[in-house]
Formats: sequence, C-alpha cells, structure tokens
Amino acid sequence: MKIIVASFQCESNSKANLHPQKSDFEYFVGDDIFKKLVVKDIFENAGFTVIPSIYANALPSATVEYDIYQYYKNQILDTVNAHPDADGIYIYVHGSMEVDGIGSGELQLVKEIREVVSRDCLIAFTMDLHANITDELGEYVDIVCGYKTAPHVDQPESQVRAATALVYCLQNGIKPHTFVQKIPMLVKGDTMLTKYEPLASLEAQTSALEGRDDIFGANLFFGHCWIDAPNTSASAVVSAADKGTAETLAKTLANDLWATRHDYRFLIEAELPEECVKRAVAGDEYRIFITDSGDNTTAGAEGTTTELLKLLLAAAPDKPTCVAGITDHDMVNSLWELPDGTPTRQFGTNGVIKSHGRILGWAKEIIGRSITVSFGNVDAVFTEKRSAFIEKGNFDEANVDLLGYRIVVVKLGYLFEELKPFADRELFALSDGASCVELARLDLKRIKRPMFPLEDFEWSAK
Ligand SMILES: [Zn+2]
Repeated sequence: MKIIVASFQCESNSKANLHPQKSDFEYFVGDDIFKKLVVKDIFENAGFTVIPSIYANALPSATVEYDIYQYYKNQILDTVNAHPDADGIYIYVHGSMEVDGIGSGELQLVKEIREVVSRDCLIAFTMDLHANITDELGEYVDIVCGYKTAPHVDQPESQVRAATALVYCLQNGIKPHTFVQKIPMLVKGDTMLTKYEPLASLEAQTSALEGRDDIFGANLFFGHCWIDAPNTSASAVVSAADKGTAETLAKTLANDLWATRHDYRFLIEAELPEECVKRAVAGDEYRIFITDSGDNTTAGAEGTTTELLKLLLAAAPDKPTCVAGITDHDMVNSLWELPDGTPTRQFGTNGVIKSHGRILGWAKEIIGRSITVSFGNVDAVFTEKRSAFIEKGNFDEANVDLLGYRIVVVKLGYLFEELKPFADRELFALSDGASCVELARLDLKRIKRPMFPLEDFEWSAK
C-alpha cells in the first residue's frame, strides 16, 4: 500500500505584477520534502510506503506563469506516473493559485492526476482557509481539510487531519464524497478572525462535525479577493462517507456563514493613510505600528509604493520613525557603493545613507541587499527585492534598530504575531495597491455577481 506525498503552493494576486520565478520557490525533492511536511509518520505508522514527490512553495505573488506552473506540476505528475498504482495521494496546496492560461492551478493538477490514477486511489488535500475553491474540485478530490484559523496557526494540524482521514478511509475501504458549496460573499480577509465570534463558533461547529466517524473534512473557506476569477468567493466544503450527507452539511455551513456576513469589521483602527499618519504622529503610545495594507508583500503586492513614506516626510514627526521594506532595486543599486553618512536627495528631500544591510527572506535565508536612508527623523529601508518585515530579525538584518523607533511602517495587513510584542498600538492603513482590502476599489471584472458586499441580496444554498 503506498501513498504519494507532494506540496505545491503559491497564493496568487492578479493585481500584482511580479510573477513567481523558480528562484522564488522554496523547493525540496524526495525525502527532503518532510523538512516541511508533517505527514510522513502518520502514513508510515499505519503501514503505508511513502513516495515523496516535491515541495514547492512561493511567497504570494502575481499569477503563476504557464511554464513555471508546468515545471512543478509535471514533477508531481512524473511521480504519479511512476506509481499509477498508488492507493492514496496527499497534496498540500494553497487553493488560490491562479495560472495564466489555465485558471485554478489546484484544479488542473488534480484533473491531470485523475487521468493517471483510478477512482480507487483516494486523493486528500490540505488547503489554506483563503482558498478560492472551484465548484468542480469535489469531482476529483476525495478529502479536503482546510485551516480553521485566521491568522493561520494550524497548518501542521490541518496536514495531520487530512493525512489521518486519508489513512482511515483507505484502511476501512471508504470512498468519501466531497461537496463544494460556493457562497457569494467575499468579505475583507482581515476582518474575518477565527478567535472571535461569530467565526469561533462556526469553526467549532466544523471541528465537531469532523469528530464524527463518517465526516472526513468539514470546512469553511473565506476566499481570496485579490484574484479576478470566476471561482473567487467563500465556500463550504464537506467530505463525508455519504454523498447526501456531504451536500446537506456543506449547504448548512454555507447558510450559517452567509447569515453572519454583516458581522465582520476591523477590530483595530483601520483608516485611510493620511489619518493613520496623523494619529501615529500625535499618539502618546511608545511605539505605534502602521501597516500599509494595500501594498502588503505577504499578500502578493510588490512593496514598491511610497505613499506612507511621503506622508511621513511631509508630516516630519518629532519622533524616530522607520518605513521598512520598500522594494526599490534601482535605489539600492545606485547607493550601495557609497559609504554610510553619504548625503543623498530622494523624493525631493535631503537624506543621508544610514546603513547597509541584508534582506531576510521568507524561509529565513538572505535574499539580497538593503540600504537605509535617513530623512531627518524618518528612516526608509529600501530593499533590492521584495521583502516582508514580519519580525525583529528582518530589522536586525537590515541593520536598523527596531527598538529605537517610535513609529514603524511595515507592508503587511495585520501585524504578524512576532511583531506584536513591539507594538503598543497598531494602525491598519487602508491604502491603495495590489492588496487593497476595499473590494469596491479592486475593480474585479471576472468574479461572479451578485457578490456581497458589492451587492447585498437574499441568498440561500438550497
Ligand atoms: Zn490564508
């Protein structure tokens, strides 16, 4: 009895311009994939032979180009072709990978796998809570287990749930049915937090369902608004031993989520950039963070916008301020050879090179160079590649002292947990950009309509 294991993940953003290249993927092959996946023991302890394929995972980016997609997808297909008699296939995907010329990368992958393996081979997916599920997915995938937390802290548990369900079904000769119920809503991801009601109860409901021995996955997916595609929306997905049960429960969960659609709002101060700067400059708290949510590099944006920097330069705060992680390859290149202390004029403002540093990448590796320029009290960290300042280590590598600042701007949505201990107050800037959280400002043309909150209407999954 053997199980193939693979992972191919990239959350797409169709408003962004940086398509992920091979160098952007964290990539492992063979047994090394288990540096990143926790399912090996579950399969081996149950007596299965594990066939590792690849692990390829890139930071959220623009859509995946056709050739890049083929490169990784075909490696998974090669493994499947070498083991067409596999009893099970476990794949960890994001669920919002949009491929140029194809559409949903996850659907295409599983369709091609199904052409190789028989219906007796069970396929289990672990997926991100922000997956844009396609209607058809349930025709090809037997078990779907999504994260139940936002912000996400249950990635390992979600792998374990899918792997355990896969083993259980294979050992007991169960052929599960997966039903996908799309929900015509696309609420701001940053307002849907599972720690709070109503989501805490809804997610508890899905966990309770998974406690039943005939339910192998009960999920709410919130969808991902930065892909302009027909499958972009929330959904409820249930995998159960009985087809009718899967359908009934998915519809119930869908209606339950729909009923809460008006309940989501920001739990922190979320304001336009001008107002955030005003509040940060005037604020009494020791250290105030502003997140530049429209240019959130962890959501696929490039990190190139300078709106907040310019607002801060104009505001000339009397306290030390840092804008961290502005992607500007040319700026770093043109200043790199100059020593610290060299004057430079940028954005019509006199500055001085403060420090040379390095960019700490997503997987804690060094991915390039950074230059910090001081404009009076405002320091701007420019990076030659897109970066995400998600923890103190990013500031350390860039050679700037996070603890020395009282206003800090980062290109994130919500502050990452690792930064929260340093934040006495958090302001969420509703800025423009590829990851703008205001649905109406995104100008999505291919999503299904009506879609809440662009329209408010009566709906029910029947
Ligand atoms: Zn997510």
